[in-house]
Amino acid sequence: MSEPNATASDRASPKDLPSVDRLLRDPAVQLLVAEHGHTCVAREVRALADELRARALRGELAQGEVTPPALADAVQRRVAGRMAPRMRAVLNLTGTVIHTNLGRALLADGALRHLLAMMAGPNNLEYDLDSGGRGDRDTIVEELLTTITGAEAATVVNNNAAAVLLTIAALARGREVIVSRGELVEIGGAFRMPDVMASAGAQMVEVGTTNRTHPHDYERAINERTALLMKVHTSNYAVQGFTSAVSEADLCAIAHARGLPVATDLGSGALVDLAQWGLPHEPMPQEMLAAGCDVVSFSGDKLLGGPQAGLIVGSREAVGRIRKFPMKRALRMSKLPLAALEATLMLYLRPERLTDDLPTLRMLTRPQDEVRRQAQALLPAVAAAVAPRYQVTAIDMMGQIGSGSLPVERLRSAGLAVAPVSSRGVGRALDELATALRRLPVPVIGRVSEDRLLLDLRCLARDEDLMGQMPALQAALA
Ligand SMILES: *Cc1c(COP(=O)(O)O)cnc(C)c1O
Repeated sequence: MSEPNATASDRASPKDLPSVDRLLRDPAVQLLVAEHGHTCVAREVRALADELRARALRGELAQGEVTPPALADAVQRRVAGRMAPRMRAVLNLTGTVIHTNLGRALLADGALRHLLAMMAGPNNLEYDLDSGGRGDRDTIVEELLTTITGAEAATVVNNNAAAVLLTIAALARGREVIVSRGELVEIGGAFRMPDVMASAGAQMVEVGTTNRTHPHDYERAINERTALLMKVHTSNYAVQGFTSAVSEADLCAIAHARGLPVATDLGSGALVDLAQWGLPHEPMPQEMLAAGCDVVSFSGDKLLGGPQAGLIVGSREAVGRIRKFPMKRALRMSKLPLAALEATLMLYLRPERLTDDLPTLRMLTRPQDEVRRQAQALLPAVAAAVAPRYQVTAIDMMGQIGSGSLPVERLRSAGLAVAPVSSRGVGRALDELATALRRLPVPVIGRVSEDRLLLDLRCLARDEDLMGQMPALQAALA
């Protein structure tokens, strides 16, 4: 690469550089052309030639860089870099199981197989195999969703933000939607309830206060312009202390007495009761429907453990209006996640096997003792790789479910804590370690806490994925 120390005699000048054509005729470069074709390799050869010429003019190019093997090598590196995908697999050792920045839920094997099989050729996405006529893509998952949740009808869109937007637009465009001040959520990525209402063309009417909202707050706000009463699950924060909220059942009684519908944005939403595995209970769409809600929406890639999707379940009347609303066409789900969603929902037909079948649940329900044993087993190899500058201990740590689910509850977990041995320059030493981990072939993402880098092992399914990279980590830190 750049050799700032080159002496005058071993510095290369622009005339030492071969032409683009000659470089392309180099036998090693011809091998690259055979593999990738002329267009791709020629683009990199030209870019390399430009770069080398500029450096030669600045007197920064060494003779050693313009030998045929060195040039062929440089072309090879550029082509490899260009052909390396920007989206890469990483190891999520952050302790947050459903991590939005790391792609949220992992798909089950069954979902991956179905996805692959359906995408490789034509399928009956919108084709009715009984009649031979046009079908509706919603039918692929509607029966599964109604069976699992007990809803009369169901439809799906691109994500839950779209589901909320579409629900409000279809049911309340040009009219008023009543929502509690305690539920005006902002979730990551600029999804704020007041903005969503405005985008949907509805007038938001806030009632109650941040900590307390009562039935009469809703009752007093209802007028002839009201179209919808809305509940929003406060998924990423908790209002604690002197608080009061109106339950879905009470709100439905108020709304239905006046002929108005109630919609609930559940955010994550769990299709099974997490309490059966000792996890905190997360509100379920089934419960919202039983309470009388006309529409319930939730995400496909949070606790459900499937692909990105927005699921809408509810009454035939309300879901029918949502499905027919023109905006639905713009927000519809693609066939890729739809195939994955169908296969994921099918796993819910055999709930006893879910903690084996569904990676998200498998990771969430791993006993702390098992993660502790894993930490003990991995400790020696990791300690050897980061020695002598860092020391490693196996400790208990607290993780979290993530993606806005159950923000207050923590997951008892375990893992490795890596700390710099020297007490000087701790921040820089931790940065260096975190950077080295992120630059591994399969980047390892941990988290820094109290002068240590923590690697939570709850989500490490195969020890080998970490162990196999320890030689590379050792080399990077040397
Ligand atoms: C996550 C969440 C959403 C958005 O869901 P996406 O599937 O990410 O679009 C909306 N509302 C609440 C309360 C959420 O927690």
